[in-house]
Amino acid sequence: MRPALGVALSWLTCLSCLSCLCLGLAAQGCGTRREGQPRVKAASNDPDEARRARMVDTQILARGVRDPRVLDAMRKVPRHKFVDPAERDRAYEDHPLPIAGSQTISQPYIVALMTELLALPDKARVLEIGTGSGYQSAVLGELAAEVYSIEIVPALARSASEKLRELGYTNVTVREGDGYRGWPEHAPFDGIIVTAAPERIPQPLVEQLAVGGRMVIPVGGFFQELKVFTKQADGRLSEKDVLPVRFVPMTGEIEHETTPTRKSD
Ligand code: SAH
Repeated sequence: MRPALGVALSWLTCLSCLSCLCLGLAAQGCGTRREGQPRVKAASNDPDEARRARMVDTQILARGVRDPRVLDAMRKVPRHKFVDPAERDRAYEDHPLPIAGSQTISQPYIVALMTELLALPDKARVLEIGTGSGYQSAVLGELAAEVYSIEIVPALARSASEKLRELGYTNVTVREGDGYRGWPEHAPFDGIIVTAAPERIPQPLVEQLAVGGRMVIPVGGFFQELKVFTKQADGRLSEKDVLPVRFVPMTGEIEHETTPTRKSD
């Protein structure tokens, strides 16, 4: 047990396979709701909208995500459209789900948490590494002016790009490729979010982060930690550990990177 975000880590929701996520936090100390008093009004008779409102209430607000822009985005983006039709009924449940290419769409809470941790300024430009289904990209598309997202599995890059276009996210651009080198043509970024775990943070991404910008990234192998790096005025990074997580590994060039050796003197 270790404290994280002010609440105790008390249960584990983890797919047995390599899945994007994750360690869940209990809904403690905040957001308890009295029976018969829904916090979120059911705005319409759309059952998916009602499911999203419930998801935000019970999984996200209850665990301490408070940024109203993030909560609004989570209430709005149709997560069921990013999962396999066979998984539609489970789209708003509190766990990751499988998508094509043996990858996963992250648990809704983690999507919300990572988005909040980016603390995006107005008119932000964001880089995402690991488009996957495109769901996280759509959530970012609700908050940022421009989102650039890179996916290494070609079929996923294609389907996410089509889905995002279909849903009208004209400010989100997806490209197929290895995100290790980032997207220098659009740098610097106010926020960089990585949804696959490298053992070390890729240096090109650090270089593409704006001063004051944040990088939210799971780092590690079997044991991973969700971290937030903030670029200081002198170009150095400050680092904060958020919570233990389980994401799919980052693949591609990072796997062949040699471990930097320490200077002996
Ligand atoms: N954010 C996604 C979840 C992504 S799962 C969603 O909301 O659905 C992680 C994704 O990272 C996988 O699709 C995987 O193929 C991709 N990935 C892994 N290594 C990568 C790399 N080097 N560059 C780009 N994408 C990568």
